[in-house]
Amino acid sequence: MRKTIIAGNWKMNKTFLEADIFLFELSENLEKIELGTVEVVICPPSLYLELASDIATDSKFHIGAQNVNDNADGAFTGEISAAMLHSMDLKYCIIGHSERRKYYSESDEMINAKLKKLHENEIIPILCIGETLEQREQGITKDIILAQLDGGLNGVEIEDNVVIAYEPIWAIGTGKTATPQQAQEIHSLIRNWLEENYSKDISEETSILYGGSMKPENVKELLSQSDIDGGLIGGASLDVSKFSKMIETAVEL
Ligand code: PEP
Repeated sequence: MRKTIIAGNWKMNKTFLEADIFLFELSENLEKIELGTVEVVICPPSLYLELASDIATDSKFHIGAQNVNDNADGAFTGEISAAMLHSMDLKYCIIGHSERRKYYSESDEMINAKLKKLHENEIIPILCIGETLEQREQGITKDIILAQLDGGLNGVEIEDNVVIAYEPIWAIGTGKTATPQQAQEIHSLIRNWLEENYSKDISEETSILYGGSMKPENVKELLSQSDIDGGLIGGASLDVSKFSKMIETAVEL
């Protein structure tokens, strides 16, 4: 049975003290929640990965990185390798986020190389894919999603070690959420693609998250869709009470 994952992507937010306080409060809140098949993940800025890992050791959440370099090691000033993330026992790493595709010109080819480095180091990639508003209006959303799946997962073996996040770019940080039906349509397309390119088992076991202005007010409707297995949450993951509420809703469903 596939997991429901509630993952927070903090992006470039929070000071060290704010991160510390949030993580302690989250730990306390999780003490009161029976998570069952729900998994909670926090992706803090890389500077706080050690702090977050330490706190997570005695708590019920996992840690993910927000980025990884596509090279194994070497002269890449400021970068972080998959082996370094592995040496800190991280479980997940986000790749292919639209902000990295846009501001750092990351191509599907580069994202694919990052994914393979993560797999070599036993880290589960959270592969983000999604269309722009322009592409949706042109009616090419499905083509874009399929091309990103083909490119990002090219030559990749999947066995319970990939999470996919569908994040329509027009819904990220804008307050506009895809309707549950719009999201479900693309999630089902992704699941069918997994079945065609891998197997029915892989398609049924792979968690497909939705991301794009998910918040306590819309999480229930979105998670009630049959192919939405959790959320990758930006803005609302910065507030511990909103984030905890979303976890509670996921557990209740
Ligand atoms: C994200 O950045 O992955 C995201 C979904 O952000 P937000 O929830 O703020 O739209």
